[in-house]
Amino acid sequence: MSDAPAAAAKLHTGACHCGAVQFEVSLDLAGAIACNCSICSAKGLILAFAPADAFRITAGEDRLNEYRFNRHVIGHMFCDTCGVEPFARGQLPDGTPMAAVNVRALKEIDLAALTPAPYDGRAA
Ligand SMILES: [Zn+2]
Repeated sequence: MSDAPAAAAKLHTGACHCGAVQFEVSLDLAGAIACNCSICSAKGLILAFAPADAFRITAGEDRLNEYRFNRHVIGHMFCDTCGVEPFARGQLPDGTPMAAVNVRALKEIDLAALTPAPYDGRAA
């Protein structure tokens, strides 16, 4: 966990669909995005980003498979049982490792209250 999380960051827990993979992350959901790239469209991902040290897998690390495509800079991690992608691994522009969390995989959040910002990943 980061020593000084952003003021709006809160601790969330999440999981894949079958529950084999569990994680916790300190995250500001106000920064969530809805991206139109090919994989986010196909999976319906709403993503929010956290530095890697604010993200922790609490169960099922050995159940994760990784999918990379295009420039292979992002590791899309998915459960080997249920196929759900709880998060992806990548880097911030300055090279800091980060987690791109699938907001839909978080527990106890009000998805309908979120207003993810559109992101034009198709053009990026
Ligand atoms: Zn699963």
